[in-house]
Amino acid sequence: MLKPKKLVWQIFPANVLTILIVIVAAGWYGAASLQEFYLHEKETDLEARANLISLQVKEYLREGRIAGLRDYSIRAGRISGTRVTVIAADGKVLADSNEDPEVMDNHRFRQEVAQAVTGSTGKSKRYSRTVEENLLYVAIPLTNVAPRLADVPPQTIIDAVLRTSVSVASMDKTMERTRMRILFGFMVGLVLAGAVIMLISRNISRPLEQMTRTAGQFSRGDFSERMLPLVKKSASLEVVTLAGSMDRMAEMLDEKIQAILTQRNQLEAVFSSMVEAVIAIDVEERVISINAAAAHIFAVERQTAKGRIVQQIVRNVQLQQQIGHTLTTKEPVVDEIILQEEKSERFLQTNVVPLSNGAGENVGVLVVMNDVTKLRQLENVRRDFVANVSHELRTPITSIRGYVETLLDGAIDIREDAVKFLEIVLHHSIRLSTIIDDLLSLSKIEEESKQGNRVLQKEVLLPVIEAAVQICRLKADQAGVTVSIECPGNIVVEMNPTLLEQAIVNLLVNAITYSRKGDRVTVQVETGEKDPEGKVRIIVRDTGCGIAAEHLPRLFERFYRSDKARSRAQGGGTGLGLAIVRHIAQAHEGGVEVKSVVGKGSEFTLIVNGCRTS
Ligand code: ADP
Repeated sequence: MLKPKKLVWQIFPANVLTILIVIVAAGWYGAASLQEFYLHEKETDLEARANLISLQVKEYLREGRIAGLRDYSIRAGRISGTRVTVIAADGKVLADSNEDPEVMDNHRFRQEVAQAVTGSTGKSKRYSRTVEENLLYVAIPLTNVAPRLADVPPQTIIDAVLRTSVSVASMDKTMERTRMRILFGFMVGLVLAGAVIMLISRNISRPLEQMTRTAGQFSRGDFSERMLPLVKKSASLEVVTLAGSMDRMAEMLDEKIQAILTQRNQLEAVFSSMVEAVIAIDVEERVISINAAAAHIFAVERQTAKGRIVQQIVRNVQLQQQIGHTLTTKEPVVDEIILQEEKSERFLQTNVVPLSNGAGENVGVLVVMNDVTKLRQLENVRRDFVANVSHELRTPITSIRGYVETLLDGAIDIREDAVKFLEIVLHHSIRLSTIIDDLLSLSKIEEESKQGNRVLQKEVLLPVIEAAVQICRLKADQAGVTVSIECPGNIVVEMNPTLLEQAIVNLLVNAITYSRKGDRVTVQVETGEKDPEGKVRIIVRDTGCGIAAEHLPRLFERFYRSDKARSRAQGGGTGLGLAIVRHIAQAHEGGVEVKSVVGKGSEFTLIVNGCRTS
């Protein structure tokens, strides 16, 4: 295919060529006409001169004065600047202004002479061997001039021919000069015309080039420039109209694109901020789109996930089957799947529905997933809780019932056994009441923190810790454990003193319970001097038996015991102490942390809001 030429190179050469052809044709025609005109003028002039001289020549001929004729010819020739030749009808030269007629050839068959002999004016332009240059000849017939024929009645007889001629060398030269001038004029004209054509074609092409550039920008989605201001100055009406239309088109396109972009961004924002995980899949099981929640669940990058086969993203056979089912049957599927993650399980409620485009054609499936892990975990916790409560309550109740039945069966009569059994019954009833007290205080704290009606007040922390330690002093002494306090007296905490004291007591009781004789328990308070949030850390540290790492995450759950045998042996803990601590921490808008190394000891930290006062 031919490479497209620039507009200027299409307009310019064609126009210049046309003008060149016109100029050459006009020049050639003009020069030819001029030459013809010039020749004609010359011929008329020569004929007039011949006619003028002919009167005198006729005289000489009539009188037969050939010598006089020759003189006259020379004179007339000189005066008129014309060569004058008189030729007899038979072709013999009688006189000539420039040559000796004796040496001249017979002129009968010279073109002009031959013509004149027939009675008309003869004309010829040719090279004269006599004078050795190009001459223009005009010959007129001279009639009835012979003396011997003077009496002949009016019958026209051509007796001689009078020929005048001039050199056409000067005419040729003039013609040459004229031609040169015409040529020069035409050349100048051509150059000027070329320049004008160039200017015009540039004027036509430049706005088009500018429009092409701007159209290129439009095609790249850059609508910042407009065509009209660029082309207005020199462009034609058509170009200006076109530029205006293109500008309007660009404006509309820009508006449409902006509207689509805004719409897309809004949709994208909605899509990506949805709590539900959403994946759109095409009929070839490739991911069309995936939102942030889904990308997070399946641990993939949103951008890289697009276009990939869904099986590479969703590594769950159940969900893959659901997608496959909906793709083939076009029927929605509602189900629940469990994703196995590194340390935990994720419960997802899945909705797989066919995806259709605007025209109602099926283009794939849409998977919407709700993370119901928390719900399921809560259900599990509740189930466990009920089971645990029943279990915890059943043990003392079974014991009480057993011993009461034994007493009723007769053991009541044996005083020693009766006292022993009643002591056991008392122990279990105390335990029952402790469990119920703990459960009640737990639900009370929970309820109050849910309603948010617990009022916290700023109080100095040290007295609260001292009171808690005082409560545990007897237990510590009995266990042979020393308890020390490291707390500056100027720390103020936003607290409910009763609850905070209970939490510290719970932690201290555990620390003492799970320590050996001679171990140390410390209550240390740290303020976050550098902590902008103004947190106070109450750390209860012991050098006791410690807790295995696998128990730590669940330690604060109700009824959770890391070591049931030891817990019971250590005085029958309810498994609710740490759950109460956590709830109290939450009621203080704080939290709890635990660190522990088996055999070395544990460190429980209660985090509350407060600061060091000066
Ligand atoms: P319990 O009434 O059984 O002590 P808690 O909720 O207070 O219940 O504690 C839960 C479990 O955490 C305990 O059964 C015990 O196994 C473990 N535990 C708590 N504190 C300590 C500690 N300081 N050292 C070792 N184990 C501890």
